[in-house]
Amino acid sequence: MKLIFDKSVPGRSLSILPPCDVEETALPKEYARTKAPILPELSETDVSRHYTELCHHVYGVNCGFYPLGSCTMKYNPRIDEEMAQLPGFANVHPLAPAYASKGCREVLDRAKTMLCAISGMDDMTFQPAAGAHGEFTGVLLIKKYHDSRRDTKRTKIIVPDSAHGTNPATAAMCGFQVVNIASAPNGCVDLNALKLALGDDTAGLMLTNPNTVGIFDENILEITKLVHNAGGLCYYDGANLNAVMGVVRPGDMGFDCIHMNLHKTFATPHGGGGPGAGAVGCKEFLKEFLPHSALMDGVEGSQVRSFAGNFLVVVRALTYLLTLGREGVREAAVNAVLNANYLQKRIKGSFKPAYDRICMHEFVLDLSEFKKETGVSALDIAKSLIDRGMHPPTMYFPLIVHEALMLEPTETESKETLDMAAEVFHDLYKQAHTEPEPMHSAPHNAYIGRPDEVRAARTPVLQKKLS
Ligand SMILES: *Cc1c(COP(=O)(O)O)cnc(C)c1O
Repeated sequence: MKLIFDKSVPGRSLSILPPCDVEETALPKEYARTKAPILPELSETDVSRHYTELCHHVYGVNCGFYPLGSCTMKYNPRIDEEMAQLPGFANVHPLAPAYASKGCREVLDRAKTMLCAISGMDDMTFQPAAGAHGEFTGVLLIKKYHDSRRDTKRTKIIVPDSAHGTNPATAAMCGFQVVNIASAPNGCVDLNALKLALGDDTAGLMLTNPNTVGIFDENILEITKLVHNAGGLCYYDGANLNAVMGVVRPGDMGFDCIHMNLHKTFATPHGGGGPGAGAVGCKEFLKEFLPHSALMDGVEGSQVRSFAGNFLVVVRALTYLLTLGREGVREAAVNAVLNANYLQKRIKGSFKPAYDRICMHEFVLDLSEFKKETGVSALDIAKSLIDRGMHPPTMYFPLIVHEALMLEPTETESKETLDMAAEVFHDLYKQAHTEPEPMHSAPHNAYIGRPDEVRAARTPVLQKKLS
C-alpha cells in the first residue's frame, strides 16, 4: 500500500475554511519557518479511502474472534467510549482549578472506591500509564516500605518462571536482584522452591493468580504467609482480573499491593499502544508511599506521570463498572471462566491442554507432541488460523510450556463463536495429518505473510525520510 505522501498531488486540497474573523498579523521573523512544511496534498475522497484501506489491514475485536491469551481482547461496550467523549471529560484542562473540575475528581474517587472494593485494597493511584508502569510503581512502594524501616538487606524479589516478562524486568529496573523459582509440575508455585528462596534478603514476591497458565493457585494463602513470615511483601500482578473480579479479592489472598490493567479488564480497547492505565492499589500501611500529584491532590509527593494519568481510561472503567453493577461484574468473571473451560473441552479432542484440568479465564495448549507427529508447529497453527478468519492465540508463552498456544476467549463471545473456533482447530488438526505443506507458509490470504519478526523488532523502520 502506498503512503499518503506518495499519493500526494501538488496543489490538490480539501480544506474549505470559514473566512478568518480576526485581524491577520505576521509572526515575528525568528519564529517563522523558512520553508513550507511537507504535507500530503489530497482530496477528501482520497484521504477517506486511504484511511478506510488502512482499516481493512487491521484485525480487531470488532472484526472477529481474538483469543489472545493474557490480553483479554474482549468487546468494549460503546457506552464507555461515549462517556469518555463527553466534552466535560474530554476537554478538561489538567490545570483546571478544583471548583471547575469537580465532576472529574468525582470520577476518580468513585472509580477508586469501586476498584479498591474489587481488589481488596485500601487506596489507589491512577497515574501509571500501563501495566508494566504500574508494576514499576508498585514495586517502588515495596522498596520505599523497606527503606522507611531502614531494612536495607532486602535486595531480592522472587518471581516464578511462569511470570509475565514484565515482572522480572520491573524488579530489575527497581534495583532488585531477581530470584527465579521453577514452577511445580501443575504450573503453580512450588512451595519448596519458594521456601528455599525466602530469606532475610527477600524484599517481596511478584505473582499472578490465576497464573499465566490459567490456573488458580490453591496454596495462595500459604504462599503469601510464607513471604510475610520472611519479612517480604506480596505483589499481585493483576494485569488481567477477568477471572476473579467480583469473585475473590487479591487483598484477601494476602497481597499488599497490586496493579490492574484498566485497558484489559475494564473496557479500554488496547493493543495498538494506545493510552492505558495500570491502576496501583495498596493496603493501608503502604498508602503513604503512593505517588501524588501536587497539582491534583494538593499533596506534595513523587509522581510517576503527569497529573492524574490517563484520565479518560478511568472514565471508561467507571462507566463499565456502573453499567455492569455488582452482580454484573461477578457474572462477567464467571462467564469468562465458563467460556474458557468450554473451549478447552471442545479443543481437547484434538490438541492437548498443557494442564488438563479446570482452568480459569484462559488455558494453554501444548503442541510439542503434535509437532513431532506432524512437523506442524504452534506458529504454523497460529498463522493458519489467520486464513480461517481468526486472530491467533498468544504463542510460545508462558515459557514453561513448549510449543505453547494460549487461548483466552473472554466472556463477550457467544457459544456459536466458540463452536466455530473449536471446529477450525479440529480442521487444522486434521489438515496437519493429511496435507501439512501449505501450513508451513500460512497465512495465504492475509495482507502480510510471515514478516521477519526479529528484524522488525531489532531494526524497525518507523520513519520515512521526506525531501
Ligand atoms: C499485559 C500484562 C502485563 C503488562 O501490561 P502492559 O499494559 O502491557 O504493560 C503484565 N502482566 C501480565 C500478566 C499481563 O498480562
